[in-house]
Amino acid sequence: MGKGTVVMKFGGTSVADAERLKRAAARIVRKREEGYDVVAVLSARGKETDRLIADAFEVSETPDPREMDMLLSTGERISCALCAMAIHDLGQEAVSLTGSQAGIVTDTSHTKARILDVRADRIFEALGQGEIVLVAGFQGVSTDRDVTTLGRGGSDTTAVALAAALGADVCEIYTDVPGVFSADPRIVPDARKLDSVSFEEMLEMSASGAGVLQLRSVEYARNHGVRIHCRSSFDESTGTIVVSEQETMENPLITAVTHSTGESRVTLQGVPDTPGAAGRIATVLAEANVNVDMIIQNEPVTEGQRADMSFTVPRDDLRTAREALEPLCDELGIAAIVSDEAMGKVSVIGAGMKTHPGVAAKVFTVLGEEGINIEMIATSPIKISCVVAADRVPDAVRALHSAFELSGEDTIRVEEPFGGSAA
Ligand code: ADP
Ligand code: ASP
Ligand code: MG
Repeated sequence: MGKGTVVMKFGGTSVADAERLKRAAARIVRKREEGYDVVAVLSARGKETDRLIADAFEVSETPDPREMDMLLSTGERISCALCAMAIHDLGQEAVSLTGSQAGIVTDTSHTKARILDVRADRIFEALGQGEIVLVAGFQGVSTDRDVTTLGRGGSDTTAVALAAALGADVCEIYTDVPGVFSADPRIVPDARKLDSVSFEEMLEMSASGAGVLQLRSVEYARNHGVRIHCRSSFDESTGTIVVSEQETMENPLITAVTHSTGESRVTLQGVPDTPGAAGRIATVLAEANVNVDMIIQNEPVTEGQRADMSFTVPRDDLRTAREALEPLCDELGIAAIVSDEAMGKVSVIGAGMKTHPGVAAKVFTVLGEEGINIEMIATSPIKISCVVAADRVPDAVRALHSAFELSGEDTIRVEEPFGGSAA
């Protein structure tokens, strides 16, 4: 009688070279030898996905999305096949599967597909035969039978979806930091490791740039009741458990400061001040599959005048957004589309702010004292986000982290990612 099923996901840095891959293999084998049924989800090695994207742009300015997915999905296949070989050498049975072979069925939105269904019979069969199952993360097969990928960081979502489908006890996300921190430890070296974080806060953190867990994986875990344990692949320490709101012991005012440096701002100048204009703009962007984040509209002072509308989009989507909006210039009579590429965003997140006024005042004051100009602001009940120039983001994060006194006692050790900065 087995002990239950565990899903273990290893990120790119954790399988970057032969030594690290063998370490991951040994850890997977150990779990199997403890008596668990083990499914391991692997990411592409090191910066492989970045390299493949660069390869595509070397041969085409606008790579075909279907072919992009064929290309990108190879990275995680390599990791899984190599890991299976390493596991065989350690004396265990292992089989590697592509996302498609593992039964991950997605919609047809290439490069950012969503998982619709997991048909895990082949995994159950392999587990039944005592095999360790290695699944290539970040990919699936669409309802049109094409290979799809799940967006950057998508292996987290593969792992959570498999954990849900297999009824796993836990989904362990092994990464290059010891858990989820009060800020990105690469920017704030004395950030505090969170023992637990609520789904509510983790969703806001992932949505505002904490790439340690892909947003979709957190949503999926919350919707399907999957327990996520985010931890280091380099040591045995306990990491961060993502828990339900009821399970959270404390409700600090501020839990974390998050950031992103990959934003762009688009401003539509001279939008006619008529009902339906904003709806058309948002619809066109949604149809192009562009996620719009913050939106600001300057109402005209006098009736009949035109308005300006600004919003942020991920920098990678700027070109698509502009192309989708061009036709609206004629259709709606918009005067010009202006964009600003190098924007960033800093956010403070904390469930405690629901009941404490004054957080926004403190955020704005701290940024002001740093001489950082706030370009746009957005809030939710547990988050305040400010758009600032991308090059001021690290200063903004450090100033807010210190002003809200979020530091931990010990400075943590961050494992150097393969080949330099974070993958
Ligand atoms: P993996 O390849 O294992 O999926 P990622 O690079 O996707 O790893 O995510 C881990 C990285 O997330 C860390 O190296 C860290 O720099 C970054 N990060 C950003 N914000 C946070 C945070 N609040 N807590 C922990 N890590 C964070
Ligand atoms: N390899 C993919 C990426 O770099 C998916 C992942 O690592 O989760 O985004
Ligand atoms: Mg990741």
